[in-house]
Amino acid sequence: MKRKLIYADHAATTPLLPEALEAMLPFLKESFGNPSSLHGWSKPVRSALKEARATIAACINAEPEEIFFTSGGTEADNWAVKGSSGGLMVSAYEHHAVLNAAASEAQRGRSVAYVRPNMKGFVEDGKLAKAWKNGIGLVSVMTANNELGTRNDIVNLARYAHKKGALFHTDAVQAVGHVPVDVQAWDVDFLSASAHKFNGPKGIGFLFIRKGLKLAPLLDGGQQEGGNRAGTENVASIVGMATALKWNCDNMETNSRHLKKLTMGLSRGIAGFYPDAVFLGSDSGDQLPGFTSVAFPGRSAEGLLHLLDLKGIAVSSGAACDSKNTQVSHVLKAVRVAQSVARSTIRITFGHENTEADVDATLAALKVALASTGI
Ligand code: PLP
Repeated sequence: MKRKLIYADHAATTPLLPEALEAMLPFLKESFGNPSSLHGWSKPVRSALKEARATIAACINAEPEEIFFTSGGTEADNWAVKGSSGGLMVSAYEHHAVLNAAASEAQRGRSVAYVRPNMKGFVEDGKLAKAWKNGIGLVSVMTANNELGTRNDIVNLARYAHKKGALFHTDAVQAVGHVPVDVQAWDVDFLSASAHKFNGPKGIGFLFIRKGLKLAPLLDGGQQEGGNRAGTENVASIVGMATALKWNCDNMETNSRHLKKLTMGLSRGIAGFYPDAVFLGSDSGDQLPGFTSVAFPGRSAEGLLHLLDLKGIAVSSGAACDSKNTQVSHVLKAVRVAQSVARSTIRITFGHENTEADVDATLAALKVALASTGI
């Protein structure tokens, strides 16, 4: 019998929703017109773009004119950081898309203040206050961390930044499509998202820019996206992104309930056969659905990951983009996790298509892996 492969690395990327693929196909085939053309071929493409923008805006309680398509989360983050002005304040456990963009701005003379998350994995507004410096123009704190799954109190953080006269950006790449996101209620100025984290295609995302605000464009060229982001729009991917986001928003409650059940089963199972396991970022209850970050002190995360992979179970140790880097991740360092715990931390992130049988199989494989010698 063919072994079932279990994908439990949804924080790295998610499978494309079949409905999203279906919606994309016409724009990869017959409806290939350039949305900026003046002839009839542009019409269906332009109206698909308009509809996708409105769909996406509705999912995060924005206006369609506030949605700007990008090539993904990295570009959206870079745009918010590099397109803003004044000093920067970023949390120390941001994705490298924010951290490295801030570092490159620092080389060009902008000041950058770093704020540490607390040991549970949350950024507190009191920490912003402590690190505050005159002249900060933009604060960037992620909605949810990609290694811990912890969700920040964005309303409070944005309020503090505004009180000090700064604008506020949040990297919501891990959150959009999985938890309610409301740019009005949160009162954020900029918000980044990436389609491949919510069952859309790779290489497409968007940046929310609050009406009345402007960021310097990253790309020079044509007048697409109101002259703010040059380049012919990736129409098929944009349509796929909108379809995937709407599906996830429409099914959010059901998916979330299902995922909570799976993670509960996983953590109970692990605690049952490995009482020394340390669950990171989870005791507050404010973690992304489907997310488990767990350490087996003294064991090697890499060894566990490979043993699970041999059994057809895909999990991750730290951020996927760091998988070649055996150093302790900057996120685990920022939350002051001891080296022995950090080196033994694996991230198991389920998606809506995972089942209770997947949890059982993961637990069984983990138990065997932990019992083997040499890890
Ligand atoms: N921000 C966060 C929190 C992420 O998890 C990722 C991807 O791992 C990104 C940004 C980058 O997004 P993309 O892969 O679309 O460039």
